[in-house]
Amino acid sequence: MNFKTPLDKQDTWNWKFATKQGHFSSRAFMNHLNEIVASNLPSPDPTLVNPLLPQKIGIFIWRAKLNKLPVRTELDKRGIDLHSTRCPICDNDLETLHHSLISCKHSADIWDRIRKWWNLNNLYISSLNDLSKCSNPSFNSSTGLAIWQAVVWTSSYLIWKNRNDLVFGNNKQSCPKIVSDIQSKSYEWINCRWKKGKLEWLQWITNPKSFDANPTVKAGID
Ligand SMILES: [Zn+2]
Repeated sequence: MNFKTPLDKQDTWNWKFATKQGHFSSRAFMNHLNEIVASNLPSPDPTLVNPLLPQKIGIFIWRAKLNKLPVRTELDKRGIDLHSTRCPICDNDLETLHHSLISCKHSADIWDRIRKWWNLNNLYISSLNDLSKCSNPSFNSSTGLAIWQAVVWTSSYLIWKNRNDLVFGNNKQSCPKIVSDIQSKSYEWINCRWKKGKLEWLQWITNPKSFDANPTVKAGID
């Protein structure tokens, strides 16, 4: 008589957060890490809404402001065993959220390129609170400020996305490539939602601040 025991089977790894097909999914794993860090979130902040952007970007910024994104130092505090708590991009410092989005040399390079693109002398972003508020005295109109905020939030989101892509096995994108993605993504999102105006691509790339006080553009973002 032939018995088939479990020992006859080949050993396999079972991934707790596997997809239905049983494969590892970086998205499922990221969702799990998000849940670990995002416990006890208060109700969403209604001021963190920019009608020129998809809702997911406002939620991302809200979580960033509350320091509720799964950077390595936060996962370490919650007992997750990591091989390193250093920044996966530069390896020069501990990975806090402030470091990841603002002070990492890679992120600082991106912010510097954004500053030059907008021809702004000061970016006024030195804290996670600055990043969510985006107040900037250089702007004349609420429309201009909303467009600028949309760019800052899109930049933060794509900096974080690039960090996750690297952690989960993809190549690190260059700063010029990420800025190029920020320009095209923010252009696409704003033009899909801005009912009283329209961005022109060449003007957007060469002189985005002209949309702040351009008399041909009607005021208002709705
Ligand atoms: Zn870094």
